[in-house]
Amino acid sequence: MLNVPISTATNRVRRDRAAPTQIVEADICVVGAGISGISAAIEAARLGRKVILVDGLPALGGQAVHSIIGTFCGLFANGTHGKQFTFGIADDILRDLGAQDALHYRRGPMTTVVMYDEVALGRWIEKTVLEAGVTVLVGAILRSVEMDGRKIKSIELANRYGDVVVKATGFVDATGDAALAWQAGLECQEPEGPNYGSQMMVIEGIDESRYPTRDEMSARLAEKAESYGLVRHDGFAFAFPGRGIALVNMNHVETPLEPLAASARGIEGKIQADRSLTLLKAEYPEAFGNARVRAYGFPGIRQTRWIVGTQHLTVDEIRAGTEFPDAIARTAWPIEQHHNAAGYVWEPFAEDHVHYVPFGSLTPADADNVVAAGRCIDADGAALSSVRVMGPCIAMGAAAAHALDLAGSGSVHQIDIAALRRRLAANVGLAD
Ligand SMILES: Cc1cc2nc3c(=O)[nH]c(=O)nc-3n(C[C@H](O)[C@H](O)[C@H](O)COP(=O)(O)OP(=O)(O)OC[C@H]3O[C@@H](n4cnc5c(N)ncnc54)[C@H](O)[C@@H]3O)c2cc1C
Repeated sequence: MLNVPISTATNRVRRDRAAPTQIVEADICVVGAGISGISAAIEAARLGRKVILVDGLPALGGQAVHSIIGTFCGLFANGTHGKQFTFGIADDILRDLGAQDALHYRRGPMTTVVMYDEVALGRWIEKTVLEAGVTVLVGAILRSVEMDGRKIKSIELANRYGDVVVKATGFVDATGDAALAWQAGLECQEPEGPNYGSQMMVIEGIDESRYPTRDEMSARLAEKAESYGLVRHDGFAFAFPGRGIALVNMNHVETPLEPLAASARGIEGKIQADRSLTLLKAEYPEAFGNARVRAYGFPGIRQTRWIVGTQHLTVDEIRAGTEFPDAIARTAWPIEQHHNAAGYVWEPFAEDHVHYVPFGSLTPADADNVVAAGRCIDADGAALSSVRVMGPCIAMGAAAAHALDLAGSGSVHQIDIAALRRRLAANVGLAD
C-alpha cells in the first residue's frame, strides 16, 4: 500500500468546439486486424515499412481471437502428416505458442489441424505487432474513404475518443466484409442467398475420458438436434486435451450486413449455442454432465461481401488444382460451404491435392493501391469457402504486404509478379 495523500482535484471541462481530427501518415495502412491483417501488418513492418493497423474492435485479433475460432485449418497438406503449406507468421505462432503448451495438433486421417489457446494467440499478436513497430489504432470504425483517381488517398475512422484520418501510400482491405473497398465505392459482390455464421463457445468441466467419438456425436446430432431446437443438425465439440475444456461449433445463424439485424442475430447465436450445451449434457451426461460455458466468442462470420478483383477464383479451378502463374497462396482444405441452415457442404480432396489463390483475386480492378486479403477476396461462394480458412489467410496477408512494398507509389497491377512469387517462395511451393 502506498503512503501518499489521496487526490481530490478535478478540472472542469466542456466540449465547446469541434474536437480536432488527428491525422496519421504511414506507408501502408492495414484495415482489419484479423489473422490476414495481422500477417500483412507484421510482414510489411518487417520489410521496413511504416505501418498502421486499424480495427473496429477494441483489441487486435479479429475472429481468430475474439470469435474463438480455435483451430488453424488449411495450414498443412492432406494426409496424417502432410507438409506445411504456409510459413511466415504461421511459423512464429507454431513455435511460440507451441513453447507455451498452447497448441494441440489434431492429426486426423484427412489432414492436420492445430487447436490453439485464443488467449495466448491474442497476447502473441499484441507482443509481435509491438515488436515489429506497427502503430495500432483499435476501436476505430471506418467511416469514409477519400479517393484520388484510382488510388485511396486517406480514410477516416471514428474512435470513441475522437476522429482519426489515416493517409497512406498503400492500403490492405483485411476487413472480411470488404469494408474498405465498399466505402471507396469500388465494385463488390455478395452471395445470392444466406451464408451462415456460427456462435462459437468454450465449455469447461468436461470429462475427457468419457468423450464420445466424432462419428457417434455426428450421428446423434443428425438424429436429435432438431428436438433441442437447433437449426443446424451437425457440428462438433473438440476437446482440448488435458484442459477439461472443449470448443463447440454446433449452430448456424445468419450474418446480415444490416446493423440492427446483425445485432439481433448475435443474440440469437447465443441462444442456439446454449441449446447445444443442453443437448450435450442430456445426451452425454458422463462427458458433459458438469459442463458449463466458460466463454462465448463474438459472432462468427463466414462470408458476407467481398471485392471484385481482376480474377474471380472459381470452384472448378479449386477442384482442378489450377496452378496460376500469379499464385500467392496454397491450401488443400475442403470446400466447406455453410449456405444451408441444417448443415454444410463438405467436399474433401485427395491426399496429393493442392489448390492455389491467384494474386488477381486480391486486387480490386479499379484501384491501384489496394490489396485485399483473407475472407473478402474475389472468388465464387464455394471457392471462397475453402480458401478463407486461416492457413491461406496468413499467406494472403503476406502477399498483400509484399505486393504493396514492391508497388511503392506505383500500381499493384504493374508489379513484377515473378519477384512477388520469389519473395513468397515458401508459401507457393517454389522452395519445396
Ligand atoms: C464459426 C466459424 C468457424 C470457423 N472455423 C475455422 C477453423 O476451424 N479454422 C480456420 O482456419 N478457419 C475457420 N473459419 C474461417 C476463418 O476463421 C475466417 O475466415 C478467418 O479468420 C478470416 O480472417 P480475416 O482476417 O480475413 O477476417 P476477420 O477475422 O473477420 O477480421 C476482420 C477484421 O476487420 C475488422 N473490420 C471489419 N469491418 C471494419 C470496419 N468497417 N472498420 C474497422 N474495422 C473493421 C473487424 O473488426 C475484424 O477484426 C471459421 C469461421 C467461422 C465464422
